[in-house]
Amino acid sequence: MSKHIDIINKYESVVRSYVRNFPTVFTKAKKHKMWDESGKEYLDFFSGAGALNYGHNDDKMKQKLVDYIMEDGITHSLDMASIAKADFIEKFQEVILKPRELDYKMMFPGPTGTNTVESALKLARKVTGRTDIISFTGGFHGMTIGSLSVTGNSMKRQGAGIPLQNTVTMAYDNYVDHDTLVYLERFLEDNGSGVAIPAAMIVETVQGEGGINAARFEWLKKIEEICRRWGILLIIDDVQAGVGRTGTFFSFEAAGIKPDIVCLSKSLSGYGVPLAVTLIKPELDIWKPGEHNGTFRGNNHAFVTATAALDYWEDESFEQSIHEKSEIIYASLQKIVSDYPELKGEVRGRGFMVGIASEVEGLASKVAEKCFAKGLIMETAGPNDEVFKLFPPLTIPKEDLEKGLAIIEESVRDSVK
Ligand code: PMP
Repeated sequence: MSKHIDIINKYESVVRSYVRNFPTVFTKAKKHKMWDESGKEYLDFFSGAGALNYGHNDDKMKQKLVDYIMEDGITHSLDMASIAKADFIEKFQEVILKPRELDYKMMFPGPTGTNTVESALKLARKVTGRTDIISFTGGFHGMTIGSLSVTGNSMKRQGAGIPLQNTVTMAYDNYVDHDTLVYLERFLEDNGSGVAIPAAMIVETVQGEGGINAARFEWLKKIEEICRRWGILLIIDDVQAGVGRTGTFFSFEAAGIKPDIVCLSKSLSGYGVPLAVTLIKPELDIWKPGEHNGTFRGNNHAFVTATAALDYWEDESFEQSIHEKSEIIYASLQKIVSDYPELKGEVRGRGFMVGIASEVEGLASKVAEKCFAKGLIMETAGPNDEVFKLFPPLTIPKEDLEKGLAIIEESVRDSVK
């Protein structure tokens, strides 16, 4: 056993899970590869749970960061003005928002995904003067009280120890026999139903932790329409599905909807450095200074790498390359599902946010374990870990993508034997 694992076991609280899935100590990472203490090389099909869409230690981002540090650029500045911040804001407007005809102000709510979700829920209540939030089964939005209260995962909610209030959970768009939207409209129309008009609805266009459930575009459009009709704010949580994971910068672009509030974090800094942004329609910018603040709002190192990361989006061939590689992934996963009927599998997802759900209990975890032994890092998702989830960096070269897919195929073959 490694000395480092011993130290961790002795002193760190048991509140950790990835060590169980990936029982080794990692020492180095480059692009789509990682290495552990023994020198073993792994293909990374996990990407920091979607926080490393451009891979590890991207050369350009690293150089910009090193230059900034060597020039003694401001590191911590709360929300004081800095050049790194101005550069990021401007480039985000120019490269991301303007070409997509999106008009949002940017708010820096704190360093992580849950911070952006909390700010969205809080602002929605203030703007509408209403309390409740509608969320969806299988949704995952974070671990703090507000974001957890809209998370549809009972195991995670039990972490709070007590019931969490002010949310109404509706069925997500992955129940073929259930029309949530008709149900939702009846509730809203019938003010005797006991369901108050909510402040907001919070939705992931593709649920990550919930099991790679992709909502149909028509469903998302209808959700937007209902929100508009009832004056409910639409919050899209793009913490995991955003920054290119589904093939476009924002996951909702393909559905043609324009949310009122967008939550971004994970891959936004591009370099695995914490950064979160809440995008809000300009008319929602009603907080007075001090009504929402935090010590680590907008980290300048993260701004530097995030600005460099946006270079990828200036190159028109980038989206096309994601699309082409995602076709390879789908074809390969479809073949696995049909070649191994014992898997009782179903391919799910969109773009580079994909997985196979297996009806056989424990099989997805078994496949992930075998992959790890063969040098491929991949996690499971879904309420019963029934999905193995492929999250390679968007920048992975085709050859290594194919190598990884071959390891998955071998691992499935070994698991169903
Ligand atoms: N929203 C979504 C959709 C997520 O997937 C996550 C994290 N997995 C979060 C919010 C919370 O982000 P964080 O862990 O950075 O607080």
